[in-house]
Amino acid sequence: MNASYDPRAADCLVDACVAVETEARYRDLPPAPSDRIFAVMENGQLLGIVSERQAALFPDRIFADLLLLRQPPTVAATTSLEQTLARLEEGPWDSLPVTNDEGTFIGVVTRLSVFRCLLQREQASRERLASTIRLLEEELTHHRMAAAVFEATSEGILVTDAQARILYVNRAFVETTGYTLEEVAGKTPHVLSSGRHDEGFYRAMWGKLLSEGRWSGEIWNRRKNGEVYPEYLHIDVIRDKHGQPHRYVGVFSDMSRDQEVQRQLYDLAFHDPLTGLPNRALFRERLTAAIGHAQRTKERFAVMFLDLDRFKEINDALGHSAGDALLQEVGQRLRSTLRESDTVARMGGDEFTLILCGMEHEGDSRTVARKVLAAFDRPFQLADRELRVSASIGIACFPDHGDNAETLMRHADTALYAAKQGAGSRWCVFEPGMGRRASERLELANALRAALDSGEGLHLAWQPQVHLGDGRVVGVEALARWVHPRLGPISPARFIPVVEETGLAPKFTAWLIEAFCGDLKTLLLTQPQDSLQFALNFSARSLHEPLLPDILGEQLGRIALPPGRVEVEITESSLMGEDSVQVRTLQRLHELGVQLAVDDFGTGYSNLAYLLRFSVDRLKIDMGFVSGMEHNVHNRKLVEAIIRMAESLEIEVIAEGVESETQRQMLLQMGCRKAQGYLFARPMVMAEFMHFLGAR
Ligand code: C2E
Ligand code: CA
Ligand code: CA
Repeated sequence: MNASYDPRAADCLVDACVAVETEARYRDLPPAPSDRIFAVMENGQLLGIVSERQAALFPDRIFADLLLLRQPPTVAATTSLEQTLARLEEGPWDSLPVTNDEGTFIGVVTRLSVFRCLLQREQASRERLASTIRLLEEELTHHRMAAAVFEATSEGILVTDAQARILYVNRAFVETTGYTLEEVAGKTPHVLSSGRHDEGFYRAMWGKLLSEGRWSGEIWNRRKNGEVYPEYLHIDVIRDKHGQPHRYVGVFSDMSRDQEVQRQLYDLAFHDPLTGLPNRALFRERLTAAIGHAQRTKERFAVMFLDLDRFKEINDALGHSAGDALLQEVGQRLRSTLRESDTVARMGGDEFTLILCGMEHEGDSRTVARKVLAAFDRPFQLADRELRVSASIGIACFPDHGDNAETLMRHADTALYAAKQGAGSRWCVFEPGMGRRASERLELANALRAALDSGEGLHLAWQPQVHLGDGRVVGVEALARWVHPRLGPISPARFIPVVEETGLAPKFTAWLIEAFCGDLKTLLLTQPQDSLQFALNFSARSLHEPLLPDILGEQLGRIALPPGRVEVEITESSLMGEDSVQVRTLQRLHELGVQLAVDDFGTGYSNLAYLLRFSVDRLKIDMGFVSGMEHNVHNRKLVEAIIRMAESLEIEVIAEGVESETQRQMLLQMGCRKAQGYLFARPMVMAEFMHFLGAR
């Protein structure tokens, strides 16, 4: 670059100008890495120019067809940059053809190439101008002119320093991105990053930029208002006299106005990429629409929140790709289970939401919930394994449970939470008060944790079990008791579920076994009680602890109580669990020699096969049946059937909750030998129980 450097139009020709014949088609041209400008020639004469983007839009047309647009004027090779710019301003074009003295077409200049020349000239000038005011003035003019180009072009421009910190942006940049120069100056273009490209993308971009001096391609950026948009970006490196990068100039055009891109944008903004289902935003939109529609037509509809049980465990155990495959399959099953007019959306994670229209009757949503859960009956096929997955559903109905989106969603979520409290596959319809229960639970959990840590407020109550014929005591069941420091006694029916949900189960079980053995040690010290059977309750959750049999065995060893004298009460659902740890634990308890009783028998769904598989010793007939027996024939038949079935399997039965003499008589007649209930004794602390025994 010499001191009198004064570039002309011919100095700004772009490299990427390619001559094509009128009959040529874009489709047939070899692909090129950078943005080209096509000079359409006929017999050595220029007919006009076509940009790469124009040509790519109609790849099958011949180039002659693409010349329909108004063509830019031709400029002479010696035209000054100022004049060249003036011509560029005359029409809606970004490039001009250039001819030599003989009038022969020699190439094309663009706003960008002129701008680049101006920058170079500016730089050359700067070198010259250090000493003279005249040149300083010129520099100012050039600068202003560069700024004018900068501002006028419809493409966004940003210039950064060598560290990629933004120095200037033009008006189009501000219009496209929503950021002003003040907001981005000194920051890197990372502020525009959409998060849609991974690190590898940017690494490749910088690699190419530094090795080849330029990069161009499509990139997704983010506007200040959060909107993600695609742009066609071209970056040039401007080097200093030592060849080191001095400036980066990025020129881009916003492509989001293009229709196809619009559609992609819509998809992106409103759909979950993994399952292709509507996302949270679209779900909200549909829900609002459904409310509007239902208000006009006086129709009812249901919102369901569904999530998978133990999804996190599956994800952790089998890996994220299996987790993703499962979510996709779940999405498909939900979609194919429901009507086209219903909405199935994925909110994120393992949460799906449904909008079900036309729920005219009370029971409709329940029917659908059952149908949806039935879609989980079949195992899921993931790579080379079969997996059983259950789900829970929370339901809120319009208008009964809310008349706006917020409330309906909150209530469906609360109902889901309630459904999750039950074991296995379940659904729940929202009821007022559920929300309060949720926060109450949290408060209970905290107090309970403190009680388990200190041991304060917890003890066992012992309820005798008697022989129905002669009334002698044959066993005793330990029932947990908790006295809350502020709320007073809290029923185990309330706090046991809290124990289960909040991860307190291992702590609680440890406390239970210790208290059980502690109380029995006191009893056995004074009264041997050889004929008594001692029962304690284990929840399904506590059977997930593989060490449970060892802990129990060890503690029983300490008080020298043979395991055969101890009975573990479990619920029917514990027998049905498919969890292998749970199954192992039950087997090991059996091996240890403890007896197994099924609590609340008749309320669950267990079948005979389960009873035999785990060699159950006793069934406890649920007190609901016992209390219903007197007035309800159906109940009486059921109790009779249970007793007969147990007899044939050689399993003992004991009736729970016997409160009246009539019940006692009926049970005796049916062949039931043992019972427990207020008729005989209420649960009592160990000291009282010892007194009770002594009195007999
Ligand atoms: P469950 O194991 O079926 O215990 C019987 C429940 O019925 C006890 O209530 C007992 O006090 C009550 N009951 C006994 N006889 C009668 C009667 O004649 N009439 C009436 N109406 N009720 C009677 P509790 O102690 O409130 O326990 C409720 C449930 O809490 C238990 O039902 C059991 O499922 C659970 N639970 C209690 N302690 C423990 C424990 O240590 N571990 C576990 N996992 N669960 C426990
Ligand atoms: Ca029990
Ligand atoms: Ca029971």
